[in-house]
Order: sequence, then structure tokens, then C-alpha cells
Amino acid sequence: MKTAIIVGSGAGGATVARELQGTYQVTVLEAGGPFHPFAGNLATIERLKTAAGPFFNRRQIPWILPAMKVDATGDGMVLVKGMGEGGTTTICTGNAIRQDHDLKATGIDLDAEFQELAREIPIHSDHESLWRAPTREAFSVCEALGLRPQPTPKMVRRERCTGCGRCILGCPHGAKWDSRDYLHEAIEKGAELVSGHRVRKFVIEDGRAIGVAASSGGRTRLYRGDLIVLAAGGLGTPVILQQSGIECRPTLSVDPVLCVATRWEKALQSHEMPMPFIVQKEHFIISPYFDFLSFFFDRRWRHSAGDIFSLMIKLADANSGNVSPEGVRKPLLELDRARLEEGVECCRAILRRMGKKDADVFLGTLNAGHPGGMLPLTEKESRTLHHDCLPDNLYVADASLFPKSLGNPPILTILALAKRISRLCREHAG
Ligand SMILES: Cc1cc2nc3c(=O)[nH]c(=O)nc-3n(C[C@H](O)[C@H](O)[C@H](O)COP(=O)(O)OP(=O)(O)OC[C@H]3O[C@@H](n4cnc5c(N)ncnc54)[C@H](O)[C@@H]3O)c2cc1C
Ligand code: SF4
Repeated sequence: MKTAIIVGSGAGGATVARELQGTYQVTVLEAGGPFHPFAGNLATIERLKTAAGPFFNRRQIPWILPAMKVDATGDGMVLVKGMGEGGTTTICTGNAIRQDHDLKATGIDLDAEFQELAREIPIHSDHESLWRAPTREAFSVCEALGLRPQPTPKMVRRERCTGCGRCILGCPHGAKWDSRDYLHEAIEKGAELVSGHRVRKFVIEDGRAIGVAASSGGRTRLYRGDLIVLAAGGLGTPVILQQSGIECRPTLSVDPVLCVATRWEKALQSHEMPMPFIVQKEHFIISPYFDFLSFFFDRRWRHSAGDIFSLMIKLADANSGNVSPEGVRKPLLELDRARLEEGVECCRAILRRMGKKDADVFLGTLNAGHPGGMLPLTEKESRTLHHDCLPDNLYVADASLFPKSLGNPPILTILALAKRISRLCREHAG
């Protein structure tokens, strides 16, 4: 059987591994290790925070969740990603939203793949019974303001979800779907998972990729494959490409997130399913979201967790920025800042209508967790989903391929894209 090396086990990588195992003998190389949900008591950590004041800083995040990595962009924004089996899907909030309009505009029709996903992944929007009173009120206010809020489709096994609100710390109840489900299916069918191995570059001989160089414990080794698929995420894949001599486009997008919060006694949003509904605006979305990152690391979030109610703005940012082996450069453009400000005003209007005073409103830390867009697909690649600059037997299958920022949850669309790429790779094998 031909062999395939898949780099990364997140949304894109796990999907390709599952789809290709059997046609190829698959090896998944993953930089991180096994993922474990945070099992500690949040109240204890909150007591530590209260006692020590600005005791926490971002470098201490691995104390709580070793798989969560945070990088600074150099422009006041922090980037959050998952580094471990399941990639960033393990720390996601479970939103499953189809966002393929830009792909469709380039001529890529993923209808069949989305239909398959609907059969394979438990997705439902019927969770209003788990909402707390402030969320219900926010929903009604958004309706009254003509913002057309919609309950969010969730990749969640409904019967197991308690609405505990810990999705981004890893679901402790096994309710949330993440890409480890696909990864385990691939392993059951015979795929090999090699964790703790960071791929540096791919190696070319006679115009073909013959394998990848991966490091572990100070040793680097060549993993050979007939087919290579890079799915190291929107920040990981461009670095591997550049270290292999392939230029990427300086079109990084990240979907910046800013929370607009207020004091609300016993709101208990920290113990509620995150992002239960979404308001879609032209350049951003708004959704109720307790921002653990701001709560633990931003001095402005000084109230106790149970007494904060917060609305998230997630922006579709301009595709402008770069990640390289030297780090991330992602300045927000004036236009991005103006749109964020528009979002802040919209959130203030919602909170005002809910009886909250402007003086009690405070913002969170600007952060982002949807990197992608540095090897965008265009009409030219709409049939092959393969760029000419890559060797014939090497594909990319992650958010790097997005033509434009989504300003929306990307997982479902990455899964669909990865499924299509897998189909093309299977045809390649034949
Ligand atoms: C807090 C948070 C919540 C989110 N919630 C949602 C949500 O509810 N819904 C949604 O649709 N999206 C959500 N997202 C975004 C979503 O999780 C990511 O956009 C998506 O997982 C990206 O998929 P990917 O395959 O491109 O990369 P990832 O899922 O990030 O996978 C990349 C993998 O590659 C590995 N890797 C990286 N570099 C290397 C290397 N050199 N060698 C080997 N392995 C490597 C990483 O360890 C990782 O496992 C959220 C993001 C964050 C940060
Ligand atoms: S709300 Fe709690 S139980 Fe439900 S998916 Fe999120 S972490 Fe799991």
C-alpha cells in the first residue's frame, strides 16, 4: 500500500487521516501530546487570582491547560491555539457553522461534503433549555433591536451536555465533538499516530516530496511518504512551507475577538454553554461569551466570575499579516479597528437596552484563534485544490487555504475542505 504522511491532527489533519487510511497507510505526525481536559476546580483558581491580584500572566496558561498555546502578535493582540492531539478543536466552543461562500465564489462546491458531515457529526441547535436568564434576555433584546439572533448549531452530543461552560478548557463530559473522534477512527483502521514530533520542513528529490523532517527530543528524522498532507493549522503550515523554500502570501487573517462585559450579579455565564446564539452582522458576529482569557489575565475583569456577563465581537479582519519562523506579525488595519468599534457600540446598545449602565461596561483582551489564509485558494485551483508552487504529491488541508477571513467559526468548513482534498488524494493514488 502507498504511504501518506499527515502533519497535524486538528480539524484538517484528523479528517484527512480518517479519509485516507485504507487507501494509503497513514502516519500522522503531531507536534503536541495527548489532550486532557482541565480537571481542576475553577473556584480554587479564582480564589488564587483574587488573593494574588495580577498574579496570573499568559505564560502560566499551561499550568491550567498544557495544550493551549498563546502567542503575542506584537500589536496588543494575543493568538490562542491548541497544540496537541485534536489541535485547536479540543479547546473550541463547539460551534458548527457552514461558511463556504468565498470558496463557492471561487468555484468550489462542497455541498456533498457538508452533507456527509451532517451524517457523521452530532450537530444540534436545540439547547435553549440550558440558557440562563441573562442570555434569554439578551436574545429577546437582540430580536427587539432587529438583529435577528439565531441559536448556534453545536457539535455536541446533546444528551451528555450539562451546559457547564467549560468547552474551551476541554469538555469534561465527553459531550463536545472534536477531531480526535476522526483521529481515533483512523487509528482503529490502522493509521499510526506519532505525537511529540514537530515537522520542520518537507524534503524534495527530483521534483517530488519524498517525506518530512520531524524533530523530537533534539533528534531529527526523515519520515518518508508517497503523499504528504500539511495540516499544521494557519500558523503552523506557512512556517513549514517557508522552511521548505515555498513562499506564502502575507494575507494572514485571525478573526480578532473582543469582549464587551458588564457586572451582573449571579449572571453565572461562566457556567453556561458558550456562544449559545449568534447575531450575524456584515463584518462581525456578536455572541454571549464568558472570556476566561480576560477573566484570568486582564486586570479590568476584577469582578468574580459568576458576576460578569459578556458579549463577544468576532471580526472578519482584513487579510493582512504574516507568520514566519521568526514569529507572527498581524497589525490591525484602520478599517479593522473601525469595524471593531462599530461592534463595541452595538454591544453597548444591547447592554443598555438590558438596563446596564455604560459606566459599568469594560472590555476584554483582544485575542484571536482562527488563523488562516496564507495559501488562499483561487479559481485557478478550484478543481485540484492544489497550488502549482507545491510538489504534485503534496497538499495543504487546513485553514491556510481560505480565500478570505470568515469572522465566523471555521471548523465545519475546514472539515469539508479536508474531505474534498482527501477525495482528490484517493484519486491521485488510483
Ligand atoms: C478558544 C477557541 C475556541 C474556538 N471555537 C471554535 C468553534 O466553536 N467553532 C469553530 O468552528 N472554530 C472554533 N475555533 C477555531 C478552530 O478551533 C480552528 O480554527 C481549527 O481547529 C483550525 O483547524 P486546523 O486544522 O487549521 O488547525 P488546528 O486544529 O489548530 O490543528 C493544527 C495541528 O497541527 C499541529 N502542528 C502545528 N505545527 C506542527 C508541526 N510543525 N509539526 C507537527 N504538528 C504541528 C498542532 O499541534 C495541531 O494539532 C476556536 C479557536 C479557539 C482558539
Ligand atoms: S457546555 Fe460543558 S458539557 Fe456541554 S459541551 Fe461544553 S464543556 Fe461539554
